Amino acid sequence: MSDAPIEIGYIQQLEAEVKNLKRLLEINNVLNTILLKPTANIDALLGYLMNAAATLTSSQSASVILWREDLDALVIAATTTDATNLIGRVVPLDSIAGTIFKDQKVVQVDDATTDPRHYEGIDQTNKFVTRSLLGVPLIARDKVIGVLEVINKHTLPWTIEDIRNLSVLAGEAAIAIEVGQLVMALQKANAELAELDNLKNDFIAIASHELRTPLGIIMGYASFLQEEDDESVSEQASKVMESAMQLRRIIDAMINLRYLKQKTESLQREPIPLGAIMDDLKHDTLAVTSSRTHQLEFVMDDVETRIFVDRTRLLMALNNILNNAVTYTPAGNKITITGRLHPETNEALISIQDTGIGIETDQLERIFKEFYQVEDHMVRRYGGLGIGLSIAQAVVHAHHGKIWAESDGLGKGATFFVALPLAESGE
Ligand code: ADP
Repeated sequence: MSDAPIEIGYIQQLEAEVKNLKRLLEINNVLNTILLKPTANIDALLGYLMNAAATLTSSQSASVILWREDLDALVIAATTTDATNLIGRVVPLDSIAGTIFKDQKVVQVDDATTDPRHYEGIDQTNKFVTRSLLGVPLIARDKVIGVLEVINKHTLPWTIEDIRNLSVLAGEAAIAIEVGQLVMALQKANAELAELDNLKNDFIAIASHELRTPLGIIMGYASFLQEEDDESVSEQASKVMESAMQLRRIIDAMINLRYLKQKTESLQREPIPLGAIMDDLKHDTLAVTSSRTHQLEFVMDDVETRIFVDRTRLLMALNNILNNAVTYTPAGNKITITGRLHPETNEALISIQDTGIGIETDQLERIFKEFYQVEDHMVRRYGGLGIGLSIAQAVVHAHHGKIWAESDGLGKGATFFVALPLAESGE
């Protein structure tokens, strides 16, 4: 080891170096924090970046100039000067910034007033004098996306450290800007999609309501004609009625589409005896099956047990299951509707059991997916939109309940279960 004393100047240089590196690290951390926020704000990012660039290089101001694909031009994206009117201004490609961008090289200018590339348009508009300038290209993933410039160093000349610091900063910044731009583009696309989705939902809601009125009139007249003594007339009217009922099922499903994403907060829940829900369900069942000849059985126990539910929504869910049981069970077959307290889980358990076409084991979960139907829609015999069960599931889940299907397979009928927490535990 050498005994030579370490020069004070060398220690000071090292200390300055460490300080500089610490500052760069700090900048890196801040850039990451800004980017990690779900609402990545590109203006905040650029603002921070330019202040850091100006401080690190002891300069008067800084600017970020970005290449805009849509305009095919270099445009001022941010600047530390107060001149907000500069944002969006196009910078010519034969300017100093343009040269940095095209050549992808650092450019250092000690006296801008004598540099023919200096673009005076900006200085003139803002009574700002650019004396000296240091600029580096912003390169993200091998692609130049713009230029980072610092202007008017307090005490010239520009140093190697200035170039190094600005280059390190530009490397970090380019990636941060690119990510920020991507996030902004995504947010914009998301907002546009949400708007389109709202439009679609409004259209469906209005159109389906409008369809209901004339259909109601058709059904009214058809039922009137069904009573006719002339058998051929009443028979044909029954056919009209059957198709009209099918149409109504589709329209009702369209009206209910908005409940696909049912939220717990939008429910109007109150404690209701299980018996009352079962009575409503019985009433609805009789209305649906009156024109057909299913054998119906109702089993109701523990009718006083109270559940904490939105009566209208829950009935909509149960009716969707019930309509399926009627649709997928041939006339003459039996449908059993049961409501009772589950002895083990202490939940209210409602089940709708049919003796219809049944469901294969591997389909038992899939049928709850939006727009999923077991039968291919090209060869469908039963109609429907494939959303009844997804809506039922959304409503039951919003009640913190469970819904599932069981079946012994094709031709062996199916049973749908809805388990709901009791009022005391749900309130
Ligand atoms: P949709 O009945 O309008 O097609 P759903 O979401 O209500 O839509 O049901 C999805 C699919 O699940 C139905 O297309 C049908 O294939 C099957 N399914 C539902 N309920 C039953 C049932 N009780 N018996 C047999 N299959 C059923």
